[in-house]
Amino acid sequence: MKLNNLSQVLKDQPKYRYVQVNKFLFQDYISDWSEASSLPKSLREELALECPLEIKADIFEDQGRKLSKKALIYLEDGESVETVLIRQKADKKLEKDMEGSDAKADARAHRNTVCISSQIGCPLDCSFCATGQSGFKRNLSAEEIVEQVVFWQRLLKQEAKDEKVDNIVFMGMGEPFLNYNEFIKAAKFINNPETLNIGARRMSVSTAGITEGIKRLAGEKLQMNLAISLHASTDTLRRKLMPVAKKYELEDIFRAVDDYIKKTGRRVMFEYLMMKGVNDSQADAEELSILMRKPLYLINLIPYNETGRFQASTRETIDHFKNTLEKKGVSVTVRLSFGSDISAACGQLKRSVGAKKKMFD
Ligand code: SF4
Repeated sequence: MKLNNLSQVLKDQPKYRYVQVNKFLFQDYISDWSEASSLPKSLREELALECPLEIKADIFEDQGRKLSKKALIYLEDGESVETVLIRQKADKKLEKDMEGSDAKADARAHRNTVCISSQIGCPLDCSFCATGQSGFKRNLSAEEIVEQVVFWQRLLKQEAKDEKVDNIVFMGMGEPFLNYNEFIKAAKFINNPETLNIGARRMSVSTAGITEGIKRLAGEKLQMNLAISLHASTDTLRRKLMPVAKKYELEDIFRAVDDYIKKTGRRVMFEYLMMKGVNDSQADAEELSILMRKPLYLINLIPYNETGRFQASTRETIDHFKNTLEKKGVSVTVRLSFGSDISAACGQLKRSVGAKKKMFD
């Protein structure tokens, strides 16, 4: 999809054309200008020439429950970027429990969450992450970030007519706060009622702890959710796992998060990958509980999708870790390990595609 000539093509058109075109592109999700039936034929032809809508991609499906899909989208310069669609089925039990309450509609609905990337590769080189290990190529433009959402919206339109993307998480390849301007431009575009119209509260951004970005986000008029990739309860361990921790110590991160909470009143999620023998001991849980015992802090324990270097903690260890935190009064959740069949942990798809290609070269 290439829309940089769009303003040029529409410059002599009446204002309402912009509204029509935005609706076709970002609410009807057309994939060919011939579908824009209310535009004059000559304009459709010019748009088809100047602003092609095709998005080239390979799709990889979860072979198990078939609820997740991952796509590798091919960009203009030959680079590619990965994005994931996670489909959660309606929760019948929750729906029953919520009979008569306002939240019932939410419990009933299918939930489609899209995980999007903000960079090609990542410069932060976290030792547990396949994206980090494959290096950094470049930042994505806001248009390339939005394109990932449009791709999944088009697919849902084809496959499940009445479904759409409900949630967006900026948790794919890259560190969004190292590409702040394009990330926030994309987030505002996705939120705009005249374009994709996805509520800010249904969007989340995850950072490895870039404090400048946390401060900037606190000043935005966009009530999106903030998550911090923590993964360790001491600076010593964090520095071993995440080289970026040499620059941003835990104390700096918590100070920025506390300022963010003071300014926005919003809850902050701390993500903690559970890695066997690395960060999942009783002592780790106790140390973590001291850091996390604050009113708007929530810790999310994530079963690790193995990339080769580390092993995943067992289910029993995760349960025990969770119990320890809860006993200390910490708010804690455990993320379901969706998408592991299609390597939905960040960076793993590009790696496996690369490996496959090599076999046939
Ligand atoms: S975990 Fe996130 S920040 Fe770390 S290397 Fe991977 S993509 Fe980058």
